[in-house]
Amino acid sequence: MAAPIDSASDVVASKTSMPSLKSLSAVSPLTLRIIAECPVTKARACDLKLPHSLVNTPVFMPVGTQGTLKGITSDQLEDLGCKICLGNTYHLGMRPGPALIEKANGLHGFMNWKRNLLTDSGGFQMVSLVELSEVTEEGVKFKSPYDGNEILLTPEKSIEIQTASVRLDDVVSSTVTGPRVEEAMHRSIRWLDRCIGANQNPEKQNLFAIIQGGLSADLRKTCLDEMTKRDVPGFAIGGLSGGEEKDDFWRMVTLSTEHLPRHKPRYLMGVGYAVDLVVCVALGCDMFDCVFPTRTARFGSALVPWGSLQVKQKQYAKDFQPIDPDCKCPTCKRHSRAYLHALFKNDTAAMHHITIHNISYQLTLMLSARQSIIDGRFPDFVKNFMRKMFPSSDQYPSWAVDALASVNITLDQH
Ligand SMILES: [Zn+2]
Repeated sequence: MAAPIDSASDVVASKTSMPSLKSLSAVSPLTLRIIAECPVTKARACDLKLPHSLVNTPVFMPVGTQGTLKGITSDQLEDLGCKICLGNTYHLGMRPGPALIEKANGLHGFMNWKRNLLTDSGGFQMVSLVELSEVTEEGVKFKSPYDGNEILLTPEKSIEIQTASVRLDDVVSSTVTGPRVEEAMHRSIRWLDRCIGANQNPEKQNLFAIIQGGLSADLRKTCLDEMTKRDVPGFAIGGLSGGEEKDDFWRMVTLSTEHLPRHKPRYLMGVGYAVDLVVCVALGCDMFDCVFPTRTARFGSALVPWGSLQVKQKQYAKDFQPIDPDCKCPTCKRHSRAYLHALFKNDTAAMHHITIHNISYQLTLMLSARQSIIDGRFPDFVKNFMRKMFPSSDQYPSWAVDALASVNITLDQH
């Protein structure tokens, strides 16, 4: 229902720890400045001004769980130019636990991450924990997967107790249909009002309302109508990328961006495949997050403009090129495919090198998309991207072709 963005570096000096913008003084909520809009598609390049730094959009936000981005340090993340990442507070609330986080001067202090943090945690974990959880009007009751204790999370708690911050959201898996979806959507609207009511510092805490409604256009439209009546700093498009058909996915995304206010940021949750990112930028989304690039790195999969490169494959044992000769990341500047292949067999450092490359790939992809929007050549950027990604045009996924056609991009045949 609401995702707080904590954007302050000096929150580390505060006692109230974690994502609490409440602890800051003299900060303003975020502002969005539209730098350029693509005249052909719905893509836009914006500057998202958070109290202590600027985020250029479209932006990909890497996901940290348990106070860390697996396989990468905060320093390395900063060096890659990452300005905002997600802190997964749901897990942090239990392990290492709020007390430890508080002791470390909050999540920023704990992670030693001085840039922006978006705390996310409700929805998707709730979906994965659905068997453990009981959703009532009061909140979500579930057993801690760590110690079995029963925990009740209410919307008020999610705003108030930022140390154990859970952005509470009644989410059902996107593959579920029927009355449960409608119930969840209405409850999310009621819970949003409770969150807004519980937020004592609306001038300091940036809450994003999360648009639900599953795969029903009617429900999503109702949710959009209701939530956009509320004056919240930004909107997230939720309840997607949970295994639904891609054709349903993009239609729900474009329906959402169609009805969201132009002057507020649009955050599409849980999306991280390169093709999905590029298509959804064309459909008008600004912010994305996903565990995919870091998770896949740990299996030796490096993201490249032509898809992915499996470092473990034998064919790379004597290949002295970098993962991607055009990539400017520290891994590609220094290491060959052969080295990473050998390292992968007996050292977790290989995973770290690939994680760095993958995050760099995602950040660079979004920066290139942004620059092309500013330069007025975004449709060509999309066509080139797709041409590189798929060896022949018959391999274009039909949903992507349709989605792009809906915003006036006709892909080339090759
Ligand atoms: Zn690289």
